[in-house]
Amino acid sequence: MKAAVFKAPGAPLVIENVPDPEPGLTGLILKVQACGICGTDLHWSEKSDAVGGWRNLEPGAVMGHEFAGEVMEVGREARGDWKVGDRVCAMPQIGCGVCQSCLSGRPHRCAELKNRASSELTGAYAEFTRIGSSETLLLPEGVDFRQGALVEPLAVGLHAVDRARLQPGDTVLVVGAGPVGLSVALWCSFFGVRHIVVSDLAAARAERAAEYGATAAIDASREDVIARFEAISGGPPRVVFDCVGAPGSLQIAIDYAPIDARVVVVGLCMGADTIFPAVAFVKELDLIFVFAYRKPDFEMTVDMLGCRRIDAASMVTDCVGFDAFPKAFEGLKIPGSQVKVMLEPD
Ligand SMILES: [Zn+2]
Ligand SMILES: [Zn+2]
Repeated sequence: MKAAVFKAPGAPLVIENVPDPEPGLTGLILKVQACGICGTDLHWSEKSDAVGGWRNLEPGAVMGHEFAGEVMEVGREARGDWKVGDRVCAMPQIGCGVCQSCLSGRPHRCAELKNRASSELTGAYAEFTRIGSSETLLLPEGVDFRQGALVEPLAVGLHAVDRARLQPGDTVLVVGAGPVGLSVALWCSFFGVRHIVVSDLAAARAERAAEYGATAAIDASREDVIARFEAISGGPPRVVFDCVGAPGSLQIAIDYAPIDARVVVVGLCMGADTIFPAVAFVKELDLIFVFAYRKPDFEMTVDMLGCRRIDAASMVTDCVGFDAFPKAFEGLKIPGSQVKVMLEPD
């Protein structure tokens, strides 16, 4: 099959033929119809040292974890649950399906976890990819493959908002208006937060958040973020989401947070970073880290897309085939006007 293959840190992906994936006993083979490019993959493809706690990519790895498509092949033990032709999306991880972690919808905590973009499991920047029977969800009619490929980033936002333990009257500052920030704004709006203020160093990006439920935008390159926030909402934010995940962004979120606030770290910084704990200490902040999601986050996202209670289709700003994909991937490393760019293998 065709796939976009990682070669070396900082080098563009190369379209090559790689072995077709096998479904195994319990897996399914998905014909990928759409796969979003994630900021994690952009950072990951540049990373060349193991400092920071995130594994390096091996040359030959195929990334891609935000996908939807059609079931092409069903492993023998999954045949009662799935059939060829089913339109689905899936959690990118594959667990054993029967342990406590898997049964609670957290395959990424399974002792037998298969990680994508590794030698045992290729990602979905490819024509086909293997998915787990227990981690797969049927797409409702009316939810197309592009929206199906948005389920993963939307589930990240839902899990982050869940972790924030929102209370009545909470006001929210979202730092960073990339796909993760937009997704967090969308779910804060869904759950009825009155003030959802999104800041970004690019005014146009921040303003775009209004489409996803943000109630105000701040141009962090020109404005004093906290002074503006207070002018807008009448007080400081109770919850600050760091949706940037670059060195320095966590300290910025800590600096923005007032006494007793919650700082929710959603953006993933893969390298070493410095924070000043005393600042968070004196404010007695709750620092909450967010990793991935649980299956119920996927289920709720699919369900809410299906009944049109949420709409994120406009997040998809470009779709390309294999030929244009490596260039589109590199292009996203420079901040621009794109939100979510997808590979459409056909
Ligand atoms: Zn992602
Ligand atoms: Zn398991």
